[in-house]
Amino acid sequence: MPKFRKKPVVVEASQWFKNGDHPDDGDEVFPEKDTPGLPSTFHPAYSGEYAGELLEGKVVRYFRRPDVDSEKPCEHCGVRMHDHGWIDTLEGGHIVCPGDFIITGVKGERYPCKPDVFEATYEPAEVEREVTALLTENCLEIERLKAELAELKVVK
Ligand SMILES: [Zn+2]
Repeated sequence: MPKFRKKPVVVEASQWFKNGDHPDDGDEVFPEKDTPGLPSTFHPAYSGEYAGELLEGKVVRYFRRPDVDSEKPCEHCGVRMHDHGWIDTLEGGHIVCPGDFIITGVKGERYPCKPDVFEATYEPAEVEREVTALLTENCLEIERLKAELAELKVVK
């Protein structure tokens, strides 16, 4: 059977630990109580107890599952469920454990990835650039040495 090698792709990724950690989560905070023009999304009973704290992330949202006890330890990471996030993926909503990487794929799709899997699968794209620079540098040095050698032969 013909064989194929997966093309290397560069993805964007960042590690998530708590609400607001994703670079595209936004930086809006909860308003003070009775802020003029308080967004209508705020319940009239909001008393300003979260004033100054980050609003729910736009990418990694709150973990909201009324059927799951928020104090229960996670079966994957052991951290209480309350400290988890939730993300929309192409396959539907997915839980995000603290420490998971959020990958943005080639088509802008986002999905979480366990840190051990991430580290086994990805490396910083910078390395690739450094290797290319190093190879280029070495090639130039080889060309220079060849030229020097050619000159020496001429002198001899
Ligand atoms: Zn977890």
